Amino acid sequence: MQFLIDYLEQVKVNNLYRQTVVYDPVDAAHVIQNGQTYLMLASNNYLGLTHEPHVQQAAMEAIRRYGTGSGGARLTTGTYPLFDQLEQALAMFKGTEAALVFNTGYMANLGVISSLAGPDDIIFSDELNHASIIDGCRLSRAQVLVYRHNDMGHLEKLLKTTGCRGKRLIVTDGVFSMDGDIAPLDVIVKLAERYDSLVVVDDAHATGVIGPGGKGTAAYFGIQDKVQVQIGTLSKALGAEGGFVAGSRLLIEAIRNKARSFIFSTALAPAVIAAAQAALQFVAANPDRIEKLRDNAQYVRNLLTARQIPVVSGETPIIPIMVGAANDALRLTAELKEQGLVIAAIRPPTVPAGTSRLRLTVTARHEQEELREAAGKIAAAVGKLKTTER
Ligand SMILES: *Cc1c(COP(=O)(O)O)cnc(C)c1O
Repeated sequence: MQFLIDYLEQVKVNNLYRQTVVYDPVDAAHVIQNGQTYLMLASNNYLGLTHEPHVQQAAMEAIRRYGTGSGGARLTTGTYPLFDQLEQALAMFKGTEAALVFNTGYMANLGVISSLAGPDDIIFSDELNHASIIDGCRLSRAQVLVYRHNDMGHLEKLLKTTGCRGKRLIVTDGVFSMDGDIAPLDVIVKLAERYDSLVVVDDAHATGVIGPGGKGTAAYFGIQDKVQVQIGTLSKALGAEGGFVAGSRLLIEAIRNKARSFIFSTALAPAVIAAAQAALQFVAANPDRIEKLRDNAQYVRNLLTARQIPVVSGETPIIPIMVGAANDALRLTAELKEQGLVIAAIRPPTVPAGTSRLRLTVTARHEQEELREAAGKIAAAVGKLKTTER
C-alpha cells in the first residue's frame, strides 16, 4: 500500500488534496456546520427546488406508494409507472419525441457517447468539456480530437482536415460547468451540417437555467430541431437526481438497447423520479423562479464588476473568479468561510493547471441583501490577494 501513501503525499504537496465536508442544509441557500450558519454559494441547486414543498410532497408520496427503492434495473423489474411519466414530461420539456432517464448525468454521458461512437468514428470535443464527456469518449474508443474552448475556427479546421471511415460527432457542454459560459451551439450546428456530423449537447447546467422556460441551450438558440442529442441532469436546477437524454424515438430506442450504464444499473428510487417530475411541473408553472435566478446572477456580476473583480459577463448563475494558483484559491476559500460563506475552490484536474478559481454559484433562493454582503466580502478578499501579489 506504499503506492497509495506516496500518491496522497504528492496530492497534498501540490495543494490538490480533497476531502468531503459535512454540511447540514437548512434550506436551499443556507447550511449549518458545527453550530454555525453559512451562506451556500457553491451549490448547483439553482432554483432551490430541493426544498420546494410541492416537490418534497411528491417525493414523500412516491415512497409511500412505491417504496424506497426500485429493486431492479429498468429493463428487468425497475420501471414503475413514474418513469414513463417523467420521460414523457422530459420529452415535452425538450421538444423531442422521446427521452430516457439514467441514474446520473455522468452515466448518461458514458452511455450515450459510447452508444453513438465506436473505434471507426471521430469525436470532436471542446477542451473544457465535463469529465463525464471525456470518460464517455474514452469508453467509446473513438478517435478524439479536442478543439480549443468555444473556438469555432479551430473546430472547423479539424472538421475540414480530418476524414474518417465512420461517423463524426461534435460534443459540447451547453453551459460550461466551471466557466459558466455558453457554447455557440448555433455555429456548432451549422458546422455539423456542413461537415456531416452529429451534435451532442450536455445541458447539465443549462437545464432549468437558460433558454425560454429553462429548456436549455438548443432552446436558447431556437434550434431544438437541429440538435439530435440533448443530454441533461435532474440533479442540478431540478433538485432531484439522475440524468437523461432526449431526442428522436429512434435514438432513444437504440440507446435503451445499447448503453451499458443504463442496462446494468438498478433504476433510481421512486422518490427521486417523483421529485424530478414535480420539479419540471414547478418550473413550467413558475417562470418567475428562473427570472429571479437570472436577476440574482446579474446582480452579483454587477456588484463584483463595480468592485473591479473581473468576472466573465454572461447569463448563467456560474460566476468564476480567476485566481491562478491552487493554494491561493484554497486560502481565499478558507478566509471567506471564516466570514460565513461557502464558495468552492476549483483546482486541477477539474480545471487546467494555473487556472484555479473560486467558483461562485448564485441561486434563486438567495436574498439580494445577503448577496450584496457576500459580494463585498469576496471583493475585499480577492482584492487583498491581488495587492499582496503586487
Ligand atoms: C454535473 C455534470 C454532469 C454530471 O451530472 P450528474 O447528474 O451530477 O452525474 C455532466 N455534465 C456536466 C457538464 C456537469 O456539469
